[in-house]
Amino acid sequence: MYKKMLSLRFPKRIVDEPVAVNLVKKFDLSFNILKAVIYPRKEGFMVLELSGHRKNFQRGVRYLKSIGIVVESIGQDIKRDEKKCFQCGACTAVCPTGALRIRRPEMEVVFDKERCSACEWCVPACPARAMEVNFNKNILD
Ligand code: SF4
Ligand code: SF4
Repeated sequence: MYKKMLSLRFPKRIVDEPVAVNLVKKFDLSFNILKAVIYPRKEGFMVLELSGHRKNFQRGVRYLKSIGIVVESIGQDIKRDEKKCFQCGACTAVCPTGALRIRRPEMEVVFDKERCSACEWCVPACPARAMEVNFNKNILD
C-alpha cells in the first residue's frame, strides 16, 4: 500500500469535476480529504491523503495532471516549539486530524506528529507562534 499527502490546485474551469470520485472509480484509490477550499467559478485548493497500489497511485496522479491540476506532495515537517507553547489549547479547535488535542484528565495539549497533515491551520491559531511549519513540497513527476 502506497500512501501520500498531496495538495491539489484546481484551475477554475474544472472545480466542478468529481475528481476524488474518479480517483476511486478509475484507479481503485482511497482518499481522505483534509482540507478543501473550492469556490464556484474560481480556483480551488485541496489537501488529501491518497492511498492505493503504487502503479495506480502514479496513474491517478497522471490523470490529475492531465486535466490541469497542479499536484504537489507535502512533507509533514511540522514542529511545535515547546518553549513557546503555553498550553492554551487554541490550536486544538482548528486541527482537523486530531494531531493537536487535549489529553484528559491532565488537560495537557499534546502534539502527535504522526497524525499531522501539514494543513497549517494551527499556525495562525496559535497566539504564541509555537507551531512551525516547514513545507517540503515537491511537484510530482
Ligand atoms: S498542521 Fe497543525 S492543524 Fe494541521 S494537522 Fe498538523 S497540527 Fe493539526
Ligand atoms: S495554540 Fe499554541 S500555545 Fe496554545 S496550546 Fe496550541 S501550540 Fe500551545
